[in-house]
Amino acid sequence: MVSIEHVDKWYGQNQVLFDIELEIAEGETVCLIGPSGSGKSTLLRCINHLEELGTGSIWVDGELVGYRLHNDRLHELREREACAKRVEIGMVFQHFNLFPHMTAVENVSFAPTLVKGENKAEARRYATELLARVGLAGKENSFPSQLSGGQQQRVAIARALAMRPKVMLFDEPTSALDPELVGEVLAVMKDLARTGGMTLIVVTHEMGFAREVGDRVVFMDAGRIVEHGTPDEVLGNPKNERTQAFLSAVL
Ligand code: ATP
Ligand code: MG
Repeated sequence: MVSIEHVDKWYGQNQVLFDIELEIAEGETVCLIGPSGSGKSTLLRCINHLEELGTGSIWVDGELVGYRLHNDRLHELREREACAKRVEIGMVFQHFNLFPHMTAVENVSFAPTLVKGENKAEARRYATELLARVGLAGKENSFPSQLSGGQQQRVAIARALAMRPKVMLFDEPTSALDPELVGEVLAVMKDLARTGGMTLIVVTHEMGFAREVGDRVVFMDAGRIVEHGTPDEVLGNPKNERTQAFLSAVL
C-alpha cells in the first residue's frame, strides 16, 4: 500500500532523511519510534506530500505521491495528480486544529463537501456515523471549546476518516493530552487498526500501544531507519545499541 524507496530529504544544506526504505502492506499498522529530531514527522510529511524529496520516491496505492520536483510540465501534471491522491491519505497531528467556529459535525463534514463535492446531507449523515464510531454520539453540535482535549482529538480522527482515506498517518496524536485522556484516543486508534482494513502509520511514544497494536515497529535515529521488525523483536529484543539506549530511556 505504501512503498518508500531510497528517500533522502534535505532542508537547505541539512540532510534529515538518509536512504529511507520501507514497504507497508495494506491493513498493516506500523509504529514509528525514535528520539526527537530523528525525522519521524518529516517522513510522515513526505508521505502526505507536504514535502518535496531530495531523491527517491514514495508510492501510495500504486500512485507516485513523493518525488523531487522539476520545472517541467510532466512534473507539474504529476504534482496535480498527487495532490488529488493526497486526499486518500488522512493525517492526525499532535495539535488537532479543529475549526473553532464549527460544531463537531461541521468540522467532520466540511472537507468532503468542499473538496470532494459530496452532497451536504449525505456528508452530515456520514459525519454523524463517524462521530459515533469514535465514541462521540450526542456531541455532534458541540463546538471544540466545549469538548475535552481527548474528545477534540477524536473529532480530528473522524474528520480525517470522513475523506475515506486508504492510509491514516498519526503524528504523536496523544502527546498533547492530559494523561487521563490518552486512553480514549488510543482505544479509537486500536479499533481502526483492528477493523476495516485501514493502513496506519503511527508516530508514537506510547510503547504499550506499539507493542499491543503494531504489526511492525520501526526505530529511527538521526534520519535513518536503524531497526525494524515485530514489536517483540524491536521492543523486546532490540539488536542495535541505539535502539537499546532509546528504549532504556523511555521504558
Ligand atoms: P520529534 O520527536 O521532536 O517530533 P521528529 O523525529 O519528528 O522529532 P522531525 O521534526 O522530522 O523530527 O525533524 C527532523 C530534523 O529536521 C530535525 O533536525 C529538525 O530540526 C529538522 N527540520 C524539521 N522541519 C524542518 C523545517 N521546516 N526546516 C528546517 N529543518 C527542519
Ligand atoms: Mg515529530
